[in-house]
Amino acid sequence: MKNKKKDFLRTIVENDLKSGKYKEIVTRFPPEPNGFPHIGHAKSISINFGIARDYNGHCNLRMDDTNPTKEDTKYVEALEDAVRWLGFDWGENLYFTSDYFSQIYDYAVQLIKMGKAYVDSLSEDKIREYRGTVTQPGKRSKYANRSVEENLDLFERMKKGEFKDGEHVLRAKIDMGAANMKMRDPLLYRIRHAHHFRAGDAWSIYPMYDFAHCLSDYIEGVTHSICTLEFENNRDIYDWVLDTLALKPPRPYQYEFARLNINYTVMSKRKLLELVEGGYVNGWDDPRLPTIAGYRRRGYTPESILNFCEQIGIAKANSVVDVAQLEFSIRDDLNTKVPRVMCVMDPLKVTIVNYEGSEEIEAPYYPHDVPKEGSRKIPFSKELYIERADFEENPPKGYFRLTPKQPVRLRHGYIITCKEIIKDANGNIVEIKAQYYPDSKSGTKDTSGIKVKSAIQWVSAAEAKKVEIRLYDRLFKTEAPEGIEDLNPNSLQIIKNALIEPAVILEKPDERFQFERQGYFYTDPVDYSDAHPVFNKIVGLKDSWAK
Ligand code: ATP
Ligand code: MG
Ligand code: MG
Repeated sequence: MKNKKKDFLRTIVENDLKSGKYKEIVTRFPPEPNGFPHIGHAKSISINFGIARDYNGHCNLRMDDTNPTKEDTKYVEALEDAVRWLGFDWGENLYFTSDYFSQIYDYAVQLIKMGKAYVDSLSEDKIREYRGTVTQPGKRSKYANRSVEENLDLFERMKKGEFKDGEHVLRAKIDMGAANMKMRDPLLYRIRHAHHFRAGDAWSIYPMYDFAHCLSDYIEGVTHSICTLEFENNRDIYDWVLDTLALKPPRPYQYEFARLNINYTVMSKRKLLELVEGGYVNGWDDPRLPTIAGYRRRGYTPESILNFCEQIGIAKANSVVDVAQLEFSIRDDLNTKVPRVMCVMDPLKVTIVNYEGSEEIEAPYYPHDVPKEGSRKIPFSKELYIERADFEENPPKGYFRLTPKQPVRLRHGYIITCKEIIKDANGNIVEIKAQYYPDSKSGTKDTSGIKVKSAIQWVSAAEAKKVEIRLYDRLFKTEAPEGIEDLNPNSLQIIKNALIEPAVILEKPDERFQFERQGYFYTDPVDYSDAHPVFNKIVGLKDSWAK
């Protein structure tokens, strides 16, 4: 294992290996295929697959498909894609809880025979009422006294589909007065006449999470069943089921860690589904979503997400992580990797009155502190475009770019100075007539003697390529959004007529770029074509939020 600070889970795993409790570590990532995975799942993937890798064990990818009405193959595929994209490999170990339905059923029969489970016929409301409260013990159903024979008969007929949904349930017989409410005769099975995307119509009863999960872990030989804190109280059931069935050791144990929450977003498949199905975003891979498919389409790298998961660590208490930390991680990763190029988002024409002809300026793709080679030729000519915001007729104090009195450097090129401002009938600036200093060229000995305070991006009018740029802002305007009502109405801005230097399209030195002074951008993997190039903004150059 690398030399990083050990988290509490790895400490447990190490001790279990040292004591000989297990010969090999087996973990699992057990998503329900009812939506696309989000960055919280990435956290769980990095923990489960990471621990297996660090201790030469293996990690199973298990689809926890016990809820037939919500699940689908497309979500199975999305989950597989996400794990693979993050760089992990489950090898042969792809499993489905639905493949264990027969085994799980047999274990239920065993519990009934032991007098440890019974068919209850109370209504859902009554079951809730009888459960009691935190301060009040529950009351056992009269049906708990059914004989083993009667229970076996009813349970079998539940399986055969003889009853309607909700008519009966199978419950564990534990303790209606237990301090842990979850232990008050928890439900093990319910009737559901529904088509299952894998099991078809074979079953009319489906096991509950609390029954299926521990047994699936056991069947697969899982050693460390790692889940999030909400399941802390379910641990007693987990242990009760495995202990009561007296299964042959070794058996798995459950450990809980704090789920990942990030501000300005929602982190639940159910809420994400609402956004997708309601058309509030453009599909599960909308770059504004915290889904792995969304980050991927936006241009995040797997490394940046894994580094983020590692940096925030594994905690035992819930907290909310600042999204700025994730943004730091992607910026940090791209900074050392991607070419720097020039793009003008809101073009303002500049005509250099004293320049004739054209030339090509050789400019490196990478700054000095990035150990990568490569350069391109930037066409330069009399007609250029600069960013509208890089010229101010009446500059505020501290404005360092082009003004009627202040020259500026064209990045990699010459220093120019403004000679004349051309306006349309409405007084809008439509063009700048400028003069350049021939002896001020970048990379040569600048003998112009002109001092400038900044360098700005530009493109040559004739050669620049028109591109579409998609700028993303936070999907939600509030730090702890509840739902739709907190959506940021301006989370997507599309710029149709940005201009980019030609090498980006013609040479394709990379898929990700730093557009100088603008941020990091990615060629949209779905909509990009050479005829219609589309770039997604991944992240800005610095943290500009909340200022
Ligand atoms: P959701 O509510 O988004 O559907 P879930 O917990 O129901 O999440 P599952 O697909 O059932 O999602 O979970 C798969 C695994 O991922 C579980 O082990 C779960 O604990 C873990 N997981 C889910 N969300 C997070 C999160 N925000 N942080 C860390 N782990 C998570
Ligand atoms: Mg779930
Ligand atoms: Mg859930």
